Formats: sequence, C-alpha cells, structure tokens
Amino acid sequence: MPAPLQLTADVLTLKLKHPFKIARHSYEEVRTVRVVLRDADGLEGLGEATPQTFYGETVATALAALNFYSDYLPETAFDLEEAERQLERVLTGNNSVRAAISTALHDLVGKRLGVPLYKLWGLDAGKAPMSTFTIGIDTPERIKMKVREAAQYPVLKVKVGRDNDREILTAIREVAPTKELRVDANCGWTVKQAIRNLPMLAEFGVTVLEQPLVRTDIDGLGEIRRHASIPVIADESCIVASDIPPLVGKVDGINIKLAKTGSLREAIRMIAIARAHHMMVMVGCMVETSIAITAPAHFTPLVDIVDLDGAALLADDPYVGATIDGGQLKIPDGPGLGVRAR
Ligand SMILES: [Mg+2]
Repeated sequence: MPAPLQLTADVLTLKLKHPFKIARHSYEEVRTVRVVLRDADGLEGLGEATPQTFYGETVATALAALNFYSDYLPETAFDLEEAERQLERVLTGNNSVRAAISTALHDLVGKRLGVPLYKLWGLDAGKAPMSTFTIGIDTPERIKMKVREAAQYPVLKVKVGRDNDREILTAIREVAPTKELRVDANCGWTVKQAIRNLPMLAEFGVTVLEQPLVRTDIDGLGEIRRHASIPVIADESCIVASDIPPLVGKVDGINIKLAKTGSLREAIRMIAIARAHHMMVMVGCMVETSIAITAPAHFTPLVDIVDLDGAALLADDPYVGATIDGGQLKIPDGPGLGVRAR
C-alpha cells in the first residue's frame, strides 16, 4: 500500500502595516496556521488556515483539528472529490482548516501536473478583475493617511458599521473624491439604520453595500435591497452553497471566502449556483499571507468583484503569489498555486 501524504503545520505570526478595525473588533497582528502536505517524492503542497473566532475557530482548535486529521490523510492528492468529502466528515466545522488542506491538495495536484490552478480549471488569467483595497475603521486623520497610501488602488472598500460612518466617508472623499468606493458594514447595522444610511451612501457615491445586518436576518437583507439602488452583497450570511437558495431575491450577490467555505471545490460550486440565480459573485479574504490569497485568486476570472488585499495589509508577507499591482490582480503562472517563499 502506498504511504499516505505527510502533513506538517506551524503557526505564523503576521504583523500588520496598520492596526485594522472592523465593526466587531480591532487587531495589530494575526496568527495563521501554515500547512504543508508532502507526497512520497517530496513534492510539497502549501495551504494556510486563518481561523476566525466569529466562525468558531481559533489557532488552538486549528492545530488540534490538523493533528486529528493526520490519521485520515489520503494516499494521493488526485482524488480531490473524495479527499474533500472525507475532510467534511472528519473536520466538520473546522472550515479554515479544511480550506488549508483543500488548498494544499490542489497545489500538489497542480505541481504534479505542472500547471497552474487556473489552467486546471480552464480559465483565462487575463480575465482576473481589479481588486479593491480595504480601509479599516479609524480616526479621520489616519483614514486620510491610509487612503493616500492606497493611491495606486482605483477601487476602495471601506469598513463602516460603528457610530462614525459619515465622518469616515467624509475623510475618504477629501483625499479620493472620485475613486470607486464600496462599503462593508460587517453586520454592524439594523434594518432601520441601513435604510436610513442609504441616502448617505448615495451622497458619497458608494457603489456596493456588503453585509449590513447580522448574518441570520435574511428577510431584513431583502427589505434593505428593496430600498437600495446599489447591489447588496451577503458575506457573513453566506458560508456554503446551500446558503445561496434562501438568499435569492434577498441580496444581489454573495461573497465567497475560503476560510468560511472550507474548500476550493465548494467555492467553484457556489459560483455556479449563484450564476444560476443571476447573482453577482464576489471573492474576499481574511488578513492572511499570499498562500491563502493566491488560492482564490486562481478562480477570480469567474467572478465580478475581487477583494483579495489581505496580504497587502501585512507588514512582511513571507510568501509571494498573486499580486495586486495598481489594483490589477495578477495570478501567478507557476504550477499549482504558483506561490514561493519571499
Ligand atoms: Mg465582508
């Protein structure tokens, strides 16, 4: 019987360029878990778990889950369908860990075949959209500084959802009066607040509203959508493909992130299901290295909105993979993920 793949995992501590605030919390560094799957020939597949307490995971649960999974490692990376089914059974709920293993398996398959993932999926890397750059919640002065630093990015995404939304939007428009601007309230508003805020979003030329409400209030999202003249996108309310049908008619689109979806194959299924319902598709990320950013970058030729700036927020990303020079996402051409150590 051939030997199963070997798994190793270690914790990465990543410093941010600036402390990052969203509606729920604030942080200066993040810890992620790097996963390496090695086959019998010594070829390595890379993955990264970015556990989110919001989705019930921590670095400690991620390490424990990886340790537990080491008894269930497949013999080869090639049967991705069965490997991911097994992952779902063995690591239910550990979504970021499953995403890391899914990524490492796909990286290994691409490396074995000598093709980048986007080619494995039959996609044209030239069709990758522009990526937004995210401005976290901050004081007006610091927001202006961050917007100046983000001069090369033509599209900004701004975190709102606390009590200073107008102040934040005013500060941004002082420095970037004409840039495309999208907002993400990260569950920070009520239906009433969101509907009251819609004229303010119009006043500042905001083009997309992401997750205004708590994730369970699907009908509330529908009510906001009836009042809104800009697309409403579900992020926290949409984890996996089966979350999409209840969102039909309630939002205009969904935001896919591997750390919550837990699988590259599931992400591709979500795109197909959203498209079948004429919904927009966005792909987002956590604050994480180029390993975790580059995996979804490979399927961005299939999506409308890209928000893959997580590694760009880091002070020193240990990896090089997908880049967003001048806002344009570039998918690397190397086999698998095409990611290498910096
Ligand atoms: Mg979001």
